[in-house]
Amino acid sequence: MATFGTLSDRLTETFRNLRTKGKLTPADVDGTVREIRRALLDADVALPVVKEFTAKVRERALGDEVNRALNPAQQVVQIVNEELIGILGGQQRRLQFAKTAPTVIMLAGLQGSGKTTFAGKLAKMLEKDGHTPLLVACDLQRPNAVNQLQVVAERAGAAIYAPEPGNGVGNPVKVAKDGVEFAKQKQHDIVIIDTAGRLGVDAELMKQAADIRKATDPDEVLFVIDALTGQDAVNTAKAFQEGVDFTGVVLSKLDGDSRGGAALSVASVTGRPIIFASTGEGLDDVEPFHPDRMASRILD
Ligand code: GDP
Repeated sequence: MATFGTLSDRLTETFRNLRTKGKLTPADVDGTVREIRRALLDADVALPVVKEFTAKVRERALGDEVNRALNPAQQVVQIVNEELIGILGGQQRRLQFAKTAPTVIMLAGLQGSGKTTFAGKLAKMLEKDGHTPLLVACDLQRPNAVNQLQVVAERAGAAIYAPEPGNGVGNPVKVAKDGVEFAKQKQHDIVIIDTAGRLGVDAELMKQAADIRKATDPDEVLFVIDALTGQDAVNTAKAFQEGVDFTGVVLSKLDGDSRGGAALSVASVTGRPIIFASTGEGLDDVEPFHPDRMASRILD
């Protein structure tokens, strides 16, 4: 995965400079922290996140708890690694299922973030595990969106509930509720609700998503965000957190030329775990997100 390339190269170089020193002095720590700060900002990590991160690294590197068995570079790498894992959510967080089926999973995010594609990926992944997911098409905003979900469902070999022309069109909340009822009748154990994307944060569509959330009481609300989002990631994530109070994050397009900042920023600012990483246009290009593996990728 090319992701984080720049960030990890920069950090590696910073640590290499430190390796020649015998002992960590406050000046070493400050110099290193300054480099880490620069590398993170260049990787599009949001400024408040960078500040908090570097303050913690500095405090720990100068503190008594540093591991004297390691050389200075190793000490800083260890601290940075642990703090990165912390920001990225610590432990891997798995998808939560309802005690009584169906489990309802709602997707939200900006248009083009990869939501519909991820709906297909998720359906396929769940099918492999023996589930019988139903995709529900609640993006009635874009004329072609229902059609697109139909194509994705077919590729994933998953069932789909979509409004008949003239029935429910224009009322995504009703479609969502009906979709959940349909799943119960047809014994689908998981419902995946695709909601309308939007170009920017849009009050009306946010209310629509909030209404769908209220009407279907999902077990998970997943916010899909394009890893290429850069500095906008924080504002977008905050708006969606306020609007739909999402429970987890899907980071999409991690295969692209991402500078990686979005992952760190979104997880840190919202405190919500990244649950999946999407890594391509194919329906198999998805994997559970592992904070420790991502931290290693950043540092390697
Ligand atoms: P939506 O508007 O949020 O539903 O976004 P789509 O699922 O339609 O995706 C928008 C575009 O991004 C499509 O061309 C997808 O093929 C592409 N796409 C989605 N996920 C990924 C991914 O993980 N990697 C790459 N490279 N492209 C993706």
